[in-house]
Amino acid sequence: MPELPEVEVVRRGLAKWVTNKKIETVSVLHPRAIRNFPGTKKSFSGQLTGQKITAVNRRGKYMWLELSSGQAVVTHLGMSGQVLIQKPGQEPEKHLRIRFTFSNYKNEMHFVDQRTFGGMHIDELIQATDNELIPRTVRHIARDPFDPAFDLAQAVEKLRAKKTEIKRALLDQTLVSGIGNIYADEALWRSSVHWATPTSRLTEAKAAQLLTHAKEVMSEALAQGGTSFDSLYVDVNGQSGYFERGLNAYGREDEPCDRCGRLLVRDSFMNRSSFRCPKCQPKPRTTK
Ligand SMILES: [Zn+2]
Repeated sequence: MPELPEVEVVRRGLAKWVTNKKIETVSVLHPRAIRNFPGTKKSFSGQLTGQKITAVNRRGKYMWLELSSGQAVVTHLGMSGQVLIQKPGQEPEKHLRIRFTFSNYKNEMHFVDQRTFGGMHIDELIQATDNELIPRTVRHIARDPFDPAFDLAQAVEKLRAKKTEIKRALLDQTLVSGIGNIYADEALWRSSVHWATPTSRLTEAKAAQLLTHAKEVMSEALAQGGTSFDSLYVDVNGQSGYFERGLNAYGREDEPCDRCGRLLVRDSFMNRSSFRCPKCQPKPRTTK
């Protein structure tokens, strides 16, 4: 599942290729891809035709194309979404869902999504409290650690105030955005914290360290082009990321801990998995 670094790789690629391009046609090939748009395929395409893409922005895992009309095309990659720049006249991808052509650019933009958990919708850009324009449906998403206006002290305060297990808090996109299962496990391993530790038991310093580690591991992934566990994830040029070798915890059950050598374990967590070192990240003592 794409997390912040993967989405940022896609955003950068798109910003490079489609900024200032004028949309000529939009074809929706699967209705599920626009299920969050309250209109028909025809009105989706009608609203976009003739508009110029002025910027490609992102908050957490949400990305959007800004349009000359003051609207935005919010794009969520879901589990397997890809946005590809393709030469015209090629055999369409098997899971092509939405195709854009441009009047001042020969290549096409394809939204491809095998599992159709992702999609696009048109949204209004609204003024956020801090004078920044943001799509209406993204305004509840907290700033991510890469945002120049990210406030570490405030994020620490919000994490500690949420009475829950630390991993749940790290995944809560309204507290801090962009951290998914992979980078949460990595940040917890780097900080030697068990995923079930109650947030109320974290010191300010420990919470700040966790967020700093989350940013650090995501920066490393970004520098290498995103993490890929799934051949479905590729960036706009069709190249898959290759960061998986750099992970210390995620997906490494029964492999030795890079710090102490103990074999890592996998716990089930919210219908998914959590990977940790039983020695470096022992279970928190219960307080009953
Ligand atoms: Zn260890």
